[in-house]
Amino acid sequence: MHHFEYRNGRLYAEDVDVAALAGEIGTPFYLYSEATLRRHMQVFQKAFAGTDPLVAFSVKANSNIAVLKVLQSEGAGADVVSGGELMRALKAGIAPEKIVFSGVGKTRDEMKAALDAGIYQFNVESAPELEALNALALEMNKTAPVALRVNPDVAAGGHDKISTGRKEDKFGVSWGEARGLYAKAREMKGVDVAGVDLHIGSQIADLAPFEAAFSKAAQLIADLRADGCAIDRLDLGGGLGIPYGNAAPPPHPDDYAALIKRLTAPLDVRLIFEPGRMICGNAGILVTRVIYVKQGVARKFLIVDAAMNDLIRPALYDAHHDIIPVVQNDDAPRETYDVVGPVCESSDFFAKGRALPEMKAGDLAAVMSAGAYGAVQASQYNTRPLIPEVLVHGDRHAIIRRRPSVEDIFSLEAAPDWL
Ligand code: PLP
Repeated sequence: MHHFEYRNGRLYAEDVDVAALAGEIGTPFYLYSEATLRRHMQVFQKAFAGTDPLVAFSVKANSNIAVLKVLQSEGAGADVVSGGELMRALKAGIAPEKIVFSGVGKTRDEMKAALDAGIYQFNVESAPELEALNALALEMNKTAPVALRVNPDVAAGGHDKISTGRKEDKFGVSWGEARGLYAKAREMKGVDVAGVDLHIGSQIADLAPFEAAFSKAAQLIADLRADGCAIDRLDLGGGLGIPYGNAAPPPHPDDYAALIKRLTAPLDVRLIFEPGRMICGNAGILVTRVIYVKQGVARKFLIVDAAMNDLIRPALYDAHHDIIPVVQNDDAPRETYDVVGPVCESSDFFAKGRALPEMKAGDLAAVMSAGAYGAVQASQYNTRPLIPEVLVHGDRHAIIRRRPSVEDIFSLEAAPDWL
């Protein structure tokens, strides 16, 4: 459930009129609903009530510091995948004891920053990474708390590019290698291996792959304990899908939780989760304005002022996003459009062959469910400045990332003195 709805034919974000806001901010921009962020965090936590999990929001999904502050105030920790994300999480006030660090390529500097901060857990993804972390921790006279990310070889996720738990994926330690690496880790004095971690993919629409992977993880914990390894944490990653409007809704967090409780209750481990999309996906929209309506030979194009550099999901993952008019016109006939941006790439589109109420130049449209993997993946391709992010709270709003000017972009560049 989210807080974007029509009132008298006009789209509201909580109590803010989106068209009026567009007039003030200028398009395109991302618009987030604080109440929706809070609600999703609460729904997730309620599903696991009584089990005291660490819910470490996956910062990669939406890393705006204001968004992180909202989630921090709801008790969220953070799952980070870079030194930059670690700094953002700390800046947002997330306690180091609630931060886990994932990713296949942590550098020495990033690991050092995380050891200095005293994070809760490193999710280690390979033997060389384990050795590097052990050596660094010994140099720093510290012990790194570690879970090994294991790859259960289970296919999951809404698209090939967001499936992460198959043996051909770069993520995690292979199942065959896992017990041996845990045994090696036990001999290392710079690491304390206390957990098992897995993350099998994103936008997962049914429970079956979770069940397959998490059952394997439960068996692995039993085997590791039999080997003498004291495992008391289980990090199950993220991955729960959200409705994007075109397919059957994914499982409710309550059903996901029931499955996990059933599989993990006998293990007596602290559960860790890294939800991203489920928390912020439907809490954000992308507001854009039609520049031109172009009748092509084969198709009619709505050319809007947002583009793939602002929201790359359709181009990258063939993702579906519902698109709705910000101001409804009940009399408008239906038209079929390709909704495209101004960037000079054929992959610059938001929808193809989409039936919408007829729209004209100047009309506003909202690209729904754009709160996850939207602003974070934006680029300045075609020297299009990053677009603002705006947070709504009841009838109030705040710009939580301003639109840089073209001069701001130039300020990072310099011509060499021989030119
Ligand atoms: N944890 C890890 C290690 C990830 O790579 C991701 C994203 O793919 C997530 C958590 C968050 O996934 P989602 O946004 O699908 O919940």
